Amino acid sequence: MEYTFPVTRTTSPKEKPDVNALGFGKYYTDHMFIMDYDEGQGWHDGRIVPYGPLSIDPAAATLHYAQMSFEGMKAYLNPQGGINLFRPDMNAKRMQNSNDRLCIPRIDEELFVEAVKALVKEDADWTPNAPGTSLYIRPFIISPEPSMAVHPANHYWFIIILSPVAAYYEGNDKELHGSRIWVEENYIRAAVGGTGFAKCGGNYSCGMIASEEAKKQGCEEVLWLDAKEHRYVEEVGTSNAFFKIGDTVYTSSLTGSILPGVTRDSTLQLLRKWGVKTEEKRLEIEEVLAAADNGTLTEAWATGTACVISPIGLLKYKGTEHAINGEKVGELSQKLYDTLYGMQTGTREPEMEGWVITL
Ligand SMILES: *Cc1c(COP(=O)(O)O)cnc(C)c1O
Repeated sequence: MEYTFPVTRTTSPKEKPDVNALGFGKYYTDHMFIMDYDEGQGWHDGRIVPYGPLSIDPAAATLHYAQMSFEGMKAYLNPQGGINLFRPDMNAKRMQNSNDRLCIPRIDEELFVEAVKALVKEDADWTPNAPGTSLYIRPFIISPEPSMAVHPANHYWFIIILSPVAAYYEGNDKELHGSRIWVEENYIRAAVGGTGFAKCGGNYSCGMIASEEAKKQGCEEVLWLDAKEHRYVEEVGTSNAFFKIGDTVYTSSLTGSILPGVTRDSTLQLLRKWGVKTEEKRLEIEEVLAAADNGTLTEAWATGTACVISPIGLLKYKGTEHAINGEKVGELSQKLYDTLYGMQTGTREPEMEGWVITL
């Protein structure tokens, strides 16, 4: 199916920000994509319009009950001057799964990808070119429909906005560093049967209190444990977690409370291609800490679109610090970062067919 979206161009283009001072989510481009859903009509009238505030009824259901879903992906400028997207079909599929859980109507995979491409093409000149920078893409669905009753809405907006961003962790564009991670033993992120596998707003507001605690403890991020027993490792902040113990790389199995990351899947596929032993299972925190202390845990890292690969240098649990490999960045973490980032930015031949789409 051919999708075309009418474009209304801004009459007052903004000045582009300094690529060396982008931060994360400080600047937004000149346009946005918006499409309506109405009961009986389905998704309709996808269009590109000037970026700007939305007019929303104070009783909009989304504002009260958080019926919403979102995605996160990146576009990179490649050395030929084209723009690379990384596995956008995976984001389209994941949003369908998030929507199913939240009683939001699905968006066709191709329509989602074409909308992303159309907007990125429109604002292509906003893609920053400094090392580590990218154009962050944020598709999301909300309902502007006024309703105080708790039930699924009949009217939704699918919106895409773009933000030129720096590397998620300061300095990681130049050299990776091992981050300090706070193992959270009181608060939980998601329980099995809940919405942990979906990318939806409610999952993140409830985690902020733990991030604040992590900062107080001198750490950059939180390692979440399972909701029921606080015994198994789940995720690091908004990234998936990997641990290399002995000759095997472990990551948590997709139990329902874990967000199935595109970078997680890509990491597992690359490791398997390279002949590295991998296992998806529920890994006990006590096992991880013992392995850190006796030196068999030689590397750990977090994976996500925002950070790509972020090495973990140290775990802090119940007041005790456990360094991993003397807080040095491991060989596999570096290789994964170089491979994934190289593919995404087009500075390396893609090792996997179909993962990189060039506009
Ligand atoms: C988005 C996200 C991830 C990473 O997913 P990617 O598709 O790799 O970006 C992991 N955990 C949580 C909680 C997330 O929100």
